[in-house]
Amino acid sequence: MTVPVKKNDRLTVHIEDLTHDGAGVAKVDGYPLFIQGGLPEETAEVHVLKTLKNYGFAKIIDIIESSPDRVEAPCPIFHQCGGCQLQHLSYEGQLKWKQNMVENVMKRIGKLDVPVHPVKGMAEPWHYRNKAQIPFGLEGEVPVAGFYKTKSHAIVDTNRCLIQTAEADAILEGLKPKLWALGLTPYDEKTKQGLLRHVVVRKARTTDEVMVVLVTKKRKLAQKEAIIETVRTLVPNVRSIMQNVNGQDTNVIFGNETLPLWGDEVIEDYIGDVRFEISARSFYQVNPIQTEVLYKQALAYADLTGNETVIDAYCGIGTISLFLAKQAKSVMGVEIVPQAIEDAKRNAALNGFTNTYFEAGPAEEVIPRWYKGGKTADVLMVDPPRKGCDEALLTTILEQKPKKVVYVSCNPATLARDLRILEDGGYKTKEVQPVDMFPHTAHVEVVALMSRVDE
Ligand code: SAH
Repeated sequence: MTVPVKKNDRLTVHIEDLTHDGAGVAKVDGYPLFIQGGLPEETAEVHVLKTLKNYGFAKIIDIIESSPDRVEAPCPIFHQCGGCQLQHLSYEGQLKWKQNMVENVMKRIGKLDVPVHPVKGMAEPWHYRNKAQIPFGLEGEVPVAGFYKTKSHAIVDTNRCLIQTAEADAILEGLKPKLWALGLTPYDEKTKQGLLRHVVVRKARTTDEVMVVLVTKKRKLAQKEAIIETVRTLVPNVRSIMQNVNGQDTNVIFGNETLPLWGDEVIEDYIGDVRFEISARSFYQVNPIQTEVLYKQALAYADLTGNETVIDAYCGIGTISLFLAKQAKSVMGVEIVPQAIEDAKRNAALNGFTNTYFEAGPAEEVIPRWYKGGKTADVLMVDPPRKGCDEALLTTILEQKPKKVVYVSCNPATLARDLRILEDGGYKTKEVQPVDMFPHTAHVEVVALMSRVDE
């Protein structure tokens, strides 16, 4: 492709789409320009910042025709913080764009002509995140805590966030000055000096219980009592205060050692009427309201009568498995992270389920083995990571022909690719339902229902 623009060019473009990072996309003679802050249907004068072989970047100088869905971003640090990408698009506009995007991807990548329902959004799309992971650091000499800038590890010092809980705000605003006053130091990624790396605040929506985890570089933590007292004053509903030690030079938040500081070591939450124990490092969905919407949709598509055997592939801590277990004859879950399988087993026992079975391992190896051993499924549920299902798993599905496949996906592109493979092997995609798990970001979760054509 010849590149039709060069660095420092100024031109007028029409923005057609958004990338999965929420940047506007305009095409100049077919060459995509990514434009931060631009919205679909807008005409803008832009300045070209950089050109690569297949795409380039430009910034807005002036919006000539603005999108009817453009709004003033309510968060004062929206333009610096890397957390949200779409606050400048009205919530209705976000849902409309997400539906369109899923529809286009189904057509373009999946060659599928399938009904894509309007996105199930939130009635109140703010303060939905039940987990805040707040980094400490230094800006020059000044200790700070807040959020990372877009694609960077520079921290914007912040006291409030519109998508996290009031408890996380209270910790951010109240704990920070207290820690500095106590003489504790933030960890500096550049010099590798300092003690405090992150504070993680988790809240269980249904029980209001809160866990606060202080991640430190070393185990020795001075002023423990003062820290505990401050946290308990700031968040009276705290049930667990933990310390996690991470001495590594890494971007990974948690280290291997977790120590109790005060209270219990878990908090409890419910999804539907299933109870979950969450420990400092357990994986747990971050938008509990929409998780329930998503799982209800998966359950509706599975359409269980109580006689079915279900396989839940990529099951995490077994949340979908346990949500389905009451309506199924049995559920078998498989997940690659052994710790998550331990959580799944514990939570199954906690809820008194005797018809669930969990195994740690790659789905594409474990499920073929189950099938060989006669453990088959009427309904196969898959919820893979962004890269989609492993080919070997899709091959197994086509050989074993479960009546129904319910596919939960966080990436419409790999979903469409996998649905096409299953369609070519004798399945038909009946319906596609997007669910907005992450308002103000460009992410969307999708549930698709497939059945065998010959059934
Ligand atoms: N269904 C769960 C988690 C879905 S996230 C929930 O709703 O909470 C996708 C999961 O797939 C992650 O837990 C990840 O650890 C797991 N995973 C990734 N590759 C895998 C593989 N090859 N086999 C099994 N699980 C895998």
